[in-house]
Amino acid sequence: VIVNTDYARFLLLAREIRDLGAAGALLAWDQEVLLPPKGLAARARHRAALAGVVHEKMCAPGYGELVDGLASAGGLDNHAGVGGQAGHAATAVREAKRDRDRAVKIPHALVTELAEAVSLSQQAWQAARARDDWPAFAPHLARLVALKRREAAAVGHEGEPYNALLDEFEPGARVETLAPLLSGLAAEIVPLIAAIGEARARAGDDPGALLRGDFDVVRQEQFSREVLVGMGFDLAAGRLDVSAHPFTSGTGPGDVRLTTRYDPCDLRVGLYATIHEGGHGLYEQGIPAEFEGTPLGDCASLGIHESQSRLWENFVGRSRAFWEHWTPRARELFPERLGRATPETLHRAVNEVRPSLIRIEADEVTYNLHIALRLELERALLAGEIETADLPALWNARLQATLGLTPATNREGVLQDIHWACGLFGYFPTYTLGNLYAAQLREAAAAALGDLDALIARGDTTPLLAWLRARVHARGRLLSADALCREVTGRELETAPFVRYLQGKFGALYGV
Ligand code: ZN
Repeated sequence: VIVNTDYARFLLLAREIRDLGAAGALLAWDQEVLLPPKGLAARARHRAALAGVVHEKMCAPGYGELVDGLASAGGLDNHAGVGGQAGHAATAVREAKRDRDRAVKIPHALVTELAEAVSLSQQAWQAARARDDWPAFAPHLARLVALKRREAAAVGHEGEPYNALLDEFEPGARVETLAPLLSGLAAEIVPLIAAIGEARARAGDDPGALLRGDFDVVRQEQFSREVLVGMGFDLAAGRLDVSAHPFTSGTGPGDVRLTTRYDPCDLRVGLYATIHEGGHGLYEQGIPAEFEGTPLGDCASLGIHESQSRLWENFVGRSRAFWEHWTPRARELFPERLGRATPETLHRAVNEVRPSLIRIEADEVTYNLHIALRLELERALLAGEIETADLPALWNARLQATLGLTPATNREGVLQDIHWACGLFGYFPTYTLGNLYAAQLREAAAAALGDLDALIARGDTTPLLAWLRARVHARGRLLSADALCREVTGRELETAPFVRYLQGKFGALYGV
């Protein structure tokens, strides 16, 4: 009986913490989508104040005694917890303890200092990127790196300081195993890029030209919304807006906010940003309502989150089958540009492989090399092996060595991503993990559902979504990423399924 009462009190307090976090997420969303520029300084304070309150509640001794007491009490395994399921209670407490143990190690002053520094540096980054003004951003970044190094030291870590930050996004992952995985992947990809480059040079054509040119933004938005609804995204439980850097946010499965950005001169930019964020959004909408406001109402990890976006963006959206279904509508919406387009020409246009400067515009083959570069640099920054002042030169040298390109401006180089400006160190590797998890999930889904392409070509992705809902979305945070991967695919995470996918698809497209 005591356990029951304590568990009920625990759920109430945990919900309050998550509700405040949801309010903070809305302030952040609003800042990116709607906030007038003169409101920025005050908004930085609002976000810092709220982050401080959340941290205080998390660290409150009463909450700590409850969490620690329940975690050590035992007996919770047989207790009907969140969603009325035995075992869920013990997992909810374990995950809450994990969050709390991390939070209490970070001094309150550091939490509020970081929140305000992030808000200001995000603004500085936007201005610096627009004007290609690295020196204006560099001091903000140096301050953030110093603060994140203090955070890593406070949290504690085995191995490198980087692990303390990585753990927030990919619980349990370690850079010492992740970095070799990424470099092993790069070793398999580099020869494929070279072979494709030669094939492209021989062919001498430009399939992407089909989707460059004048594409009315209102019609692009219409197309994006139709594709999103076709995927199964529920617009009564979500929104699609525009922001400089597409992202997914919201407060729970009933309010999932996606953003995208449209390029009036290239149909691919907005369409694939929308499908990508739509994949994230389907995951968020698929988390069981009874988990909302509890420690289980979350993703397994950001790598698993990214697996959902990449699966929809690349394995569905960039497939030939996708265009079998959507070509007639694209022709209708853009008759001047696409009046004579076919599924085949569109499929080729959205799968151009070409080493590029900008990560978010990179094709599936070269994409993970951009991540390997970022991991290498941020790992060295956190270890104190390099200084922020060295970043532009190191970035350019590294890109030249891997992709044979040197950015003419920092805007197309070290200033291109928002992550570091937000203090998100340890986040980038989750993108490659997402690609790897997605490929492994795709093979498992195909084994269960049969011919996925035949379904996609009919515009019927319902069975695929149902499969993902049952295996991934409905689990919330019940399983770690590792455990989820083993349970759903029967194997540990490996690079082979992704490499098989790339070789199969691009081998056929380019005849290599
Ligand atoms: Zn994503």
